[in-house]
Amino acid sequence: MDGSKTPAAAPVLILLGPPGAGKGTQARMLEDSFGLVQLSTGDLLRTAVKAGTPAGKAAKAVMEAGDLVSDDIVIAILRDRLAEPDTAKGVILDGFPRTGAQAEALDALLAENRQRINAAISLEVDDAAMVTRISGRFTCGGCGEGYHDSFKPTAKDGICDKCGGTDMQRRADDTAETVASRLEAYHAQTAPLIAHYDQQGALIRIDAMGAIDDIAGQLAAIATRVTA
Ligand code: AMP
Repeated sequence: MDGSKTPAAAPVLILLGPPGAGKGTQARMLEDSFGLVQLSTGDLLRTAVKAGTPAGKAAKAVMEAGDLVSDDIVIAILRDRLAEPDTAKGVILDGFPRTGAQAEALDALLAENRQRINAAISLEVDDAAMVTRISGRFTCGGCGEGYHDSFKPTAKDGICDKCGGTDMQRRADDTAETVASRLEAYHAQTAPLIAHYDQQGALIRIDAMGAIDDIAGQLAAIATRVTA
């Protein structure tokens, strides 16, 4: 030992959980309090769809049906985003990986950067409650803050608490019919990753059926511990 210190690698947190489990809401709260960057492949894909890029054109109908976009497209989008300098602070992956191939690609990408997964946090919820959660949610188009008709309404009708914006948006795939396909895709293709991260010793399960702030408190405690 020569006593020299290697700089700590930037932390990598993964949020796993079915649609409606609160990954986006919790990732944004962690981003605010820990200075990490939220990487949501769903958001990146929606941006690509709006911009009409080749990836967006290929993904549009798949997303509307509630199916998973092909691994090639999603891995390429994530790789490009991870190459941007702001991610050097550390990242919270929200909605990626969703398949075994994506998990392997992520392991390889992180190994290239001498990074590792500090924690893969599984937000555990009852499927039955997810339809209600998803069908009531909306987002501020200005700052991205997420809301829910019953569980987290804006203080003033139609006005964002965070930025004062009034452009409230609902996702095209947040319908009862599409949620059923999205839940099916989660159980068939993504839930097996829980065992993958358990084997890596990175898995932490939390009960995500409670109040948003309680869950945020548990996640903040985990983030503090694993990024120390
Ligand atoms: P989300 O915003 O995470 O709920 O994602 C919305 C939709 O984008 C999903 O239903 C999929 O169609 C697609 N999507 C997002 N992330 C991925 C991913 N990692 N792999 C495949 N499809 C994805």
